[in-house]
Amino acid sequence: PVDRMPEIQEARLRLPVLAEEQVIMEAVRENPCIVLCGETGSGKTTQMPQFLYEAGYASGKGIIGITEPRRVAAVSMSQRVAMEMNLPTQVVSYQIRYEGNVTTDTKIKFMTDGVLLKEIQKDFLLQHYSVIIIDEAHERSVYTDILIGLLSRIVPLRNKKGLPMKLIIMSATLRVEDFTDNKKLFPSPPPVIKVDARQFPVSIHFNKRTPMEDYSWVDKTGGILVFLTGQAEVHDVCRRLRKAFPFRRSTTDTGKEEETFKDTRRFKKDKQKQALPRIHLDNYSALPVDEGDEDQLAGVDDDECGYEGCELDLGEDEGDPDEKADPSIPLYVLPLYSLLAPEQQAKVFQASPAGTRLCVVATNVAETSLTIPGIKYVVDCGRVKKRYYDRVTGVSSFKVSWTSQASANQRAGRAGRTEPGHCYRLFSSAVFGDFSEFSEAEITRRPVEDLVLQMKDLNIDKVVNFPFPTAPSGEALMAAEQLLVSLGALEEPPRTGRVKDIERAKLSCPVTPLGRAMASFPVAPRFAKMLALGRQQDCLPYVIAVVASMTVREIFEDLERPAASEDESSKLAQNKARLMQMRRLWAGQGPSLLLGDLMVLLGAVGACEYAGCTPQFCETNGLRYKAMVEIRRLRGQLTNAVNAVCSEGGVFVDSKMAPPTESQVICLRQILLAGLGDHLARRIREEEILDPKWKNGYKTPLLDDPVFIHPSSALFKKPPEFVVYQEVMETTKMYMREGLVCHCT
Ligand code: ADP
Ligand code: MG
Repeated sequence: PVDRMPEIQEARLRLPVLAEEQVIMEAVRENPCIVLCGETGSGKTTQMPQFLYEAGYASGKGIIGITEPRRVAAVSMSQRVAMEMNLPTQVVSYQIRYEGNVTTDTKIKFMTDGVLLKEIQKDFLLQHYSVIIIDEAHERSVYTDILIGLLSRIVPLRNKKGLPMKLIIMSATLRVEDFTDNKKLFPSPPPVIKVDARQFPVSIHFNKRTPMEDYSWVDKTGGILVFLTGQAEVHDVCRRLRKAFPFRRSTTDTGKEEETFKDTRRFKKDKQKQALPRIHLDNYSALPVDEGDEDQLAGVDDDECGYEGCELDLGEDEGDPDEKADPSIPLYVLPLYSLLAPEQQAKVFQASPAGTRLCVVATNVAETSLTIPGIKYVVDCGRVKKRYYDRVTGVSSFKVSWTSQASANQRAGRAGRTEPGHCYRLFSSAVFGDFSEFSEAEITRRPVEDLVLQMKDLNIDKVVNFPFPTAPSGEALMAAEQLLVSLGALEEPPRTGRVKDIERAKLSCPVTPLGRAMASFPVAPRFAKMLALGRQQDCLPYVIAVVASMTVREIFEDLERPAASEDESSKLAQNKARLMQMRRLWAGQGPSLLLGDLMVLLGAVGACEYAGCTPQFCETNGLRYKAMVEIRRLRGQLTNAVNAVCSEGGVFVDSKMAPPTESQVICLRQILLAGLGDHLARRIREEEILDPKWKNGYKTPLLDDPVFIHPSSALFKKPPEFVVYQEVMETTKMYMREGLVCHCT
C-alpha cells in the first residue's frame, strides 16, 4: 500500500489519467503491449509507474523500468514519483549515463533510453524487469525507436519462457501509426488507449510579420513560458528579462500576493497592458554551437544565483533602451534546458516568490518532457536547433530551423493546463502554414554506425530486417556497414561469388571479436577502435584522455567572442594573446606537433587535472569548466570500461599524467589515425586552385569543395600537406575539427 500525503492525493485526482486507471490497468493485464496516448501534463509519466506498483508489478522479482530520452526527465521524474509515493530514492531511483541512485531495493527505475539499451546487451531478456515503460515515444529519438524494435521481440520471448513481461509505450501525441500499423514490428497491433486531457482553450496570437516586433498586452497573472532554441540564447534572454523586470525579495514579500496568482476575478478586472522587453529572436548568427545533442556541453558562465542575494547589479551598463520596462511587476525568471544542474531545474516546479510572476525561459525540453505548473502564457519563437548531417559526406552542422506544426501546437498547449491561456507566436500564420506537419524521426537524419554496431553485438546480423518503427535509409545502413568493416569491427564480406550473394553479404557482416570489444565502450565506433588499440606502448591513458575530450564539444572558450563594450574588448584582446600562447604551449614541440589539435586537447586536459580541475584554473586558461568536468567523468568511465574488457586491467586515471614520450607520440598518432583513416584531407596545390577562395584549402575524397583548417587550430600557421580530422563542421566555412598531421614531409 502506498501512503501518500493528502495534498498529493488530491492533486493526483485531478489528473486525467487517474480517471482511466482501471481501463489502463485492465488493458495492461490483458495485453503484452499497450500504447498510452495523453496530452503532456495528463499524468502519464508520474502516474503510470504508480499504477503498476500498486497493481503488484514490482512486488515479485521484477521491477518497473521507465525510459526517458532526456536525462533531465529521468532525474526529475524519479524524484517527483518518490515524493508522491512517499518512498525513499533507494526505492524510486534513476540511472543516467554517469550517475544514478539505484540500489538493490529499487522497485521503480527511471533511466535514459541509452542505459536500457546497454542493459539489453548484458541480458537480452531483461529478466530484472517485469514491465518496461517507453516514455515520450512521440519524440522518436533513435534509442527509443531501437528499444521499441527490440522489445517487440523480447516481450514475446519472455512470455514464451514463462517469465511474462509487459511493454507500455507512452506518447504525448496521437500519431502512433508507426508503432501500431507496422506489421513487421507488432504482427497484431497493440491496443491504443487515449486519455482525454482537460485542456483549456489557448488563444493563438500570430505575429503580423515574422521578424519580431514588440509584442504586448500580457496581463498580470499567470506564468510565462518562453521557447527558444539553445542554452546560450536562454541565458541571454534571462539576463535581459531580469534587468528589465528586476525582482527584489525584500520589497514585496508580504505573502499576500501569492493568492492573486490564482484569483481570476482580479485578473479580469485588471486589463492593464504591459510591454515586454524586446528580444531579438531573429539574430541567430552569433550563436555558438551548443546543445542539440544531449551529450553536449556549452559554457554557461553566468549568474544563476542572482536570486539568492536578490541584489541584481543594475549599476552596470543598462544596454539597449528597449530593455527598460516597468519594474513594478517583478518577474521571477528561470532558465530551463537539458544540461542545467538538477537543483536549478527543480526551481521551476517550486512556487515562485510572493508578488512575482514566474517566467521560464526554456529550450524545447519544456515542450513535452516537463510540465511546469501555472503557465498561462507561452511565447514561441517557432524554431528549434538541430544537428544536421549530410548523409553522403558526413558533414555536420547545427542549424536553427522552423519547428513542425505538431511541435508548435504542443508548445501552445502548455498555456492551457490550468485555465484558458494565450500563446504568442513570433511568426506569422503564413509561415506557420509552411511548417512541416510533424517532426521526422531522428533515425532518418543521422549516421547509424553506432546503432549498427550495437545491433551486431546483439547478434542481429541483418540490420536491414530489424523491425524499426521507421527504418533508416538503405544508404545510411550501407555506409555504416562499410565504415564498421573498415574499422575491423565487422567481418569482411566475401569478394568472390555471385554478385547477388556479395551484395547481400555486404549488409549482413557478423561482428568480430574486436567489434565486440568496441561495442562495450560507450563511445562512437571510431573512438572505440582507438580505445581497443590503446594498450600498446602504454598509450592507453593518453588515448582515453584524447577520446574523452574529442567526444565533448566546445572545450575552449571562444576567443573570437564579440565584446560587449570597448573596455571588455581590450581585455579580451590581451586575454586572447595569452590564451593563444597557452594553447601553443599545450601543442608541445618537436614530434608532439604531429598530434596537432589532439595534443592541445591532451595538454589542456593534463594541465587542468594537475591543477585539480577547478573553475579558477579553467577560467584563467580559457577552458570551459563544465566541459572539463564532463571529460573528467568520461575518463573515469572509459577507464573502467577498458579495464572490464582487458583482463590485465590496471589502467587508472592519473591526475599527474606526464606528457607522452616521443615514441608514445608516434604510437598515439597511429592509434588515432586507425579510427579516423577515412577522414583524410590533402592540401590543394597551387596549380589546382580554381577559385581564389580555395587558397589554403584541403581536398577530401567525398567533397567537391575544399575544407579548411580553422584559425584556432594548432595546424593553422604551418598547414601540413596531409591532415586527418575528426569531422567537418560547416559554420561560416567548411572547417575541419580537431586535426592531426597525417604525413610528414
Ligand atoms: P505527462 O507525463 O502526461 O506529461 P506528468 O506525469 O509529467 O504528465 O505530469 C503530471 C502533473 O504532475 C502535471 O500537472 C505536472 O505539473 C505535475 N508535476 C510533474 N512533476 C512535478 C514536480 N517535480 N513538481 C510539481 N509538479 C510536478
Ligand atoms: Mg511525461
